[in-house]
This record gives sequence, C-alpha cells and structure tokens, in this order.
Amino acid sequence: MDGINKSMYDIASDSAFSILARTNELKSKGKDVINLCIGQPDFSTPKNIVDAACKALRDGHHGYTASSGLLKLRESVASDLFKRNKVIVEPDQILISPGAKAIIFYTLLMFGQPGVEVITPDPGFMAYKSLIDYTGAKPVFLPHRKEQNFSFNVDELLSLITKKTRLIILNSPGNPTGGVVPEKEFDKLADELSKYPNIFILSDEIYSKITFNGCKHKTLLAYPQIKEQVIMMDGWSKSYAMTGWRLGYGIYPKKLFKFAEKLAINCHSCVNTATQIAGIEALENKLSQNFVEYMVRKFQERKDFMVSKLNEIKNIECCNPEGAFYVFPKISKKNFNSSFICSELLEKKFLATVPGSSFGKLGEGFLRISYASDMKNLKKSITLLKEYMNE
Ligand code: PMP
Repeated sequence: MDGINKSMYDIASDSAFSILARTNELKSKGKDVINLCIGQPDFSTPKNIVDAACKALRDGHHGYTASSGLLKLRESVASDLFKRNKVIVEPDQILISPGAKAIIFYTLLMFGQPGVEVITPDPGFMAYKSLIDYTGAKPVFLPHRKEQNFSFNVDELLSLITKKTRLIILNSPGNPTGGVVPEKEFDKLADELSKYPNIFILSDEIYSKITFNGCKHKTLLAYPQIKEQVIMMDGWSKSYAMTGWRLGYGIYPKKLFKFAEKLAINCHSCVNTATQIAGIEALENKLSQNFVEYMVRKFQERKDFMVSKLNEIKNIECCNPEGAFYVFPKISKKNFNSSFICSELLEKKFLATVPGSSFGKLGEGFLRISYASDMKNLKKSITLLKEYMNE
C-alpha cells in the first residue's frame, strides 16, 4: 500500500489468535470445538483481586497515575522479588506496563535498528521475531532442542555473538515448549555474559510462578555479575489468571530506565489505576498466593496426564516440561507438516492447537497444546488425537 511505512509488513500476526478466531467461528456454527490453542489460564481471577479493583473504582481512583506506575505497586513488585529470590531492586527501576508484551515492544524499540543483531529463541514466542523484524534488526536464532528438554546450550549461544549483537532474548519457563533452563546453565551463562557488558539481556519470566516437579524459578536478576545488563519482565497475566486485565512490568538497569519511561509516557501514559490497585492485592494478599499454588497443582496434574497419554500414541513423542502450561509434542505423520496437521485437527476433529512452525523453523514437526483447560476436554483431546493419528 502506498504511503505506509514498509516496516508494517514485517510485523507478523500471532497464529494463536487467528486459530482462536476460526475456533470461535466454528463454535458459532454449533461445532463443539475443544480449544487448546490459547495461552491463558482457564481459571477466573481470584475474588479478592476482583473486589480490590471494584473497590478502587468506587473509592474514586479514576485518574492517571505516574507513567511508571503507582509507587505502592512498584514497591510490592520489589518485595515480591525479594521474597522469592532474595533480589534487591529499587522501585525506580520498575516500569508497570499494560501487559508484559509492552515491555518486549519498548525494549526492542530501544535496541533494534538496521545493522544490529538480536539473539532470540527458536522455537520462541512469536512477538520476539516479529518486532525484531519491525525494527530492521536481524534476528539470530538460538536453538532450543527437544533433546535438551527445550533448553539451550551456553556454548552455542556464545558462538552466535558477533560485534553486532546488542540484545539477547531469553524465556524460561518458555512458550511454546514449557522448557526451563537449568540453573547450572544460567550460572555459566551469567559468568560468560558478564564479559560482554555492552550486550543486554531481555529475560522474559512471565511464567516464573508456574513451575513443576520441584523446579524453582531463578530470575536472571539474581546474578550480580550481569545485573546491569538484565531487563527482566514478568506480570500478572499468567500467575494470577489476569490476561484480560493487561498488567505487567519490566525491571530495567537504572541507566536504561529513563528510555523505557519515555516510551511509556509517549505510548500508554499509565496502566489503568484500578488494575494497578488489583495488582497490589494480587502480590500482597496470602489468598492470591494460595490461588497460585492451587492453579499450579492443577496444571501439574493435567501436564502429567497429557505427557503420559501423548507418549502412548503412535508417532507422538512428548517431553515432560517443567513450567508454563504447554506441551510441545513431536507429531510425525507422513508428508504432513505441522501447519497442515493443525488445520486438519481443527477442521475435521474440532480440536484447536497451534502449529510448532509458527514459533520458528525448529518448531516444525511439533504442535503446541495448551492444557489450560479442564480434564474432560483434555481427555477428549487425547481420544481425538489418537483417532487422527490412526487415520
Ligand atoms: N511473553 C510470553 C512468553 C508469553 O507467552 C506471553 C503471553 N502469551 C507474554 C509474554 C505476554 O504476556 P501479557 O499478557 O502480560 O502481555
């Protein structure tokens, strides 16, 4: 189209959202579609959090807040991080954002430009590559292989660094695989990356509170040797079942914070005030932490079910993820790629999943299945997959 900035064509769409649209279309035609395509908890936001937001509105919290967010909320984020990881950050390094996604965008606007390289996971969350492309920077893909339980190899990462590398994006626990980078690997990574003080790391920790099998999340901010290089992002969407509230945060090294804040001022002004007050309730009330524990226990049961049942199906192999709420099975069907399989599953079996290929080249041959759905649907999905694989 004439007149439009050509970078607009580099922004990709999220296939999970287009599959969701088709799923809803089929549902509106009366089809009983099982929706395992979308990345959001199937739980409602805890009542105490909803009540806090309603009260905030009734109490008259209707205006703008500071662009970086309410001080009280930033203090809550800092103390939550200290409680979980013994990491000290100052509230003036924390930017409250309308969902964690905004932090990805702002960070890529800060670093991305033609001539620059950004290392990013493959397979990885689609917004990374899409926005790297938008800025004109070059994405350099860091393989996350099934053989390594969808973690990566530090030596391989180091081999990808060039004079042009400005930013490395990491995501553990990861979307689409649920893979968690082992602490030993992070220890080595921190030591090695401290030798490159001009390279920054965007650590997407949005699934930090959803881990299994006794695996405890360790933030990259816990490594003092790289603390000045790490931009850590997390939020409320996944942990507190608050995807629609749009509340996240980024923690920036002090020297970068003013740039992030300027982007916030120019773009979203501030997150809506009642949502921010609900965010304080989420972090500070024990009831909300009980909810997180309950939800993670349920996710673990469902994950265990899915992994064992998927592995019983011929030509399906599935790793046992340590975090998030996805399984990422390898599905072999002669001459069929993952996009075709996904579309057949949706159109013929009314089962919505996401093709692995939409997360990168190495995702080809896999499907992303979100088990944020009830056991009845998960059981049915296994029956449908079995039928499909036997056809
Ligand atoms: N990072 C990853 C890896 C995600 O999976 C998602 C949500 N799908 C986000 C960031 C964005 O989260 P939010 O809803 O807080 O914008």
